[in-house]
Amino acid sequence: MAEHTKRVKRYRLFANSFWIFGPLFVVGAVLTRSQSALGRVVNSSGFLPVALAVSLLGALSGAAWVRFRWGLVLCPRCGKPFYGGGGLLIDASCASCHLRLS
Ligand SMILES: [Zn+2]
Repeated sequence: MAEHTKRVKRYRLFANSFWIFGPLFVVGAVLTRSQSALGRVVNSSGFLPVALAVSLLGALSGAAWVRFRWGLVLCPRCGKPFYGGGGLLIDASCASCHLRLS
């Protein structure tokens, strides 16, 4: 598999991970504002780097997802926008030439 194809494949997986990091970020944001025991653990200094990492991954994977949705990520074979519309997850096959990245 060509290097560019591998890169688009990894980028697609990262974009789809937005649906993991996004909700994690929301849960973390809610917990830091709650006064529960779990909220106090999340607010302790040891969790701060984890919270920052999840926020950063959430933002970056969200940006990757938006780039697929807006057609900014091009298919390595046909050069057309890789994402063809539809569901929330970016599909593994190209909308134009049906190249599969899995
Ligand atoms: Zn294609």
